[in-house]
Amino acid sequence: MSKKTKAQELQEQLTWTFPHIGKDSPEQIEKASKYCEGYKEFLNAGKTERECVKAAVKMLKKAGYRPFDRNASYEPGDKVYYVNRGKALIATTFGKKPLTEGVRINGAHIDSPRLDLKPNPLYEKDEIAFFKTHYYGGIRKYQWGTIPLAIHGVVVKKNGETVDICIGEDETDPVFCVTDLLPHLSAKQNERPLKDGLKGEELNIVIGSLPYQEEDIKEPVKLMALSLLNERYKITEKDFFRAELELVPAVKARDVGLDASMIGAYGQDDRVCAYTALTAEMDAKKPAHTTVTILTDKEETGSDGNTGLNSDYVLHYIEDLAGQAGVPVRDVLRNSLCLSSDVNAAYDPTFPDVYEGRNSSYINKGCVLTKYTGARGKSGSNDASAETMAKVIGIMEEEGVYWQAGELGAVDAGGGGTIAKLVAHMNVDTVDLGVPILSMHSPFELSSKLDVYNTYKAFKAFYK
Ligand code: MN
Ligand code: MN
Repeated sequence: MSKKTKAQELQEQLTWTFPHIGKDSPEQIEKASKYCEGYKEFLNAGKTERECVKAAVKMLKKAGYRPFDRNASYEPGDKVYYVNRGKALIATTFGKKPLTEGVRINGAHIDSPRLDLKPNPLYEKDEIAFFKTHYYGGIRKYQWGTIPLAIHGVVVKKNGETVDICIGEDETDPVFCVTDLLPHLSAKQNERPLKDGLKGEELNIVIGSLPYQEEDIKEPVKLMALSLLNERYKITEKDFFRAELELVPAVKARDVGLDASMIGAYGQDDRVCAYTALTAEMDAKKPAHTTVTILTDKEETGSDGNTGLNSDYVLHYIEDLAGQAGVPVRDVLRNSLCLSSDVNAAYDPTFPDVYEGRNSSYINKGCVLTKYTGARGKSGSNDASAETMAKVIGIMEEEGVYWQAGELGAVDAGGGGTIAKLVAHMNVDTVDLGVPILSMHSPFELSSKLDVYNTYKAFKAFYK
């Protein structure tokens, strides 16, 4: 080997680029792949926030967690959870340090973009029965036509009974879909801007085409659909007003690539951080700081509503923890550290123009630390301090976690937000950390297994 020149040595010492994990640490490939088997199961079990809460509670109970009781007293290592209205969840492992030294908060969200049924959804037109929808969160509407969809959700009946509905996930189930024009007749539609390729009121779900067999009935196809729903779930048309029904891609999580290095699935934003946060939470034995792992709802619509982080449910939970310890909650909050765990946009070589290469996240380079989100001059962003960045980078590097830094796209190319600013609002040091994702918010998002694994490792280090 030839001796390095002074400049080469200096370059090595002074410059920095984030390595490809597969090259730098190939032994992680198998570990990551193994870890992601559980992740894929989690994705398949939870396609709505309610289903994610159920799946998480099942995992937590198995790991020895009990419902949080604010009148109880807890020891380091004790594990509790709290469910907010079946749609959001907080889990805690009590730490060794006094609460006044702060808690470690890890907040991910379990709602994902989708098509929600309107309150009065069912109609018949030209002898086909449809559901009307209103999309939830940021979707590119044209991506939701002509793909198989499943219905998930709940109906609360007049007698108070809650009926869980899920059609389209079992191999023997029928699925549903939004239609689109054939190319032969789409000349005029092709002139529309892409955002209107399919319009909001065109996202109608085909649910049936056979009539109810009786003479002189008005809308017999609608009646047929209703009678089948009534047969299966004992519900009537009026029950839709007491329902939350969501259309999601009827596709299971799959390995992607000849090397199976990636995962393709619906809802990885942000269930990838939910799963990695949850498994790190369960792995915490007697952490230094008490943990507060949050799986929240409503992030995709701006965190409003009482199951979203704009509500005070997390503050109230931490108030309960402080109350138990007999310390002022403000002392707990100002010394706390939070990872707002959410995905970021991975650099896509097919669409380089919307990224700034030096400040983008790349798949296979580890979890991405996002100092700020927002748009138009960081507006609406938490913008983590240098001190917070230093703390979190220090925690990760001590445990050999592969991490990278990234912005959400080039300046003024667009933008977005996370729950970071809402946790920071409580006077908590907060920064965004998560998994880089390709095709984010599409029905089939891509993540790299090495990134998922290193995000889990980052969360584990955070809860040490
Ligand atoms: Mn997200
Ligand atoms: Mn999102």
